Amino acid sequence: MHADCIFCKIIAGTIPCDQVYSDELVIVFKDIQPRSPVHLLVVPREHIISLSELEPRHDALMAHIMRLLPTLAKQQGLEDGFRTVINTGPAGGQVVFHLHVHLMGGNIRGI
Ligand code: 5GP
Ligand code: ZN
Repeated sequence: MHADCIFCKIIAGTIPCDQVYSDELVIVFKDIQPRSPVHLLVVPREHIISLSELEPRHDALMAHIMRLLPTLAKQQGLEDGFRTVINTGPAGGQVVFHLHVHLMGGNIRGI
């Protein structure tokens, strides 16, 4: 728990969110500013800043997230496919410095 991290506050329940899934490793909620009809954020409960801070001990967590993504997409009705985005660092467009995967779908065209 990092006191100045918005996603840690959401995980702790001190800031509300529109949650769609939760387990012992992750929480999943709707992006507050959706860029597509379905726009979820898959967030590890552990405060990891970004992909750049991952360590070998996170391997199982990251595999869990990867395998969860298609399940979540299906639950959201994205039968034909979905987009995942991970922004890393300021130059990579990251604005919340708690690792998260964007899961988007419904209007994706090309890259
Ligand atoms: P980043 O650019 O860091 O990959 O994306 C951060 C995302 O978090 C943005 O899409 C932004 O809309 C979302 N976001 C920021 N603050 C909140 C919040 O308080 N609640 C929710 N649900 N999403 C947030
Ligand atoms: Zn955090």
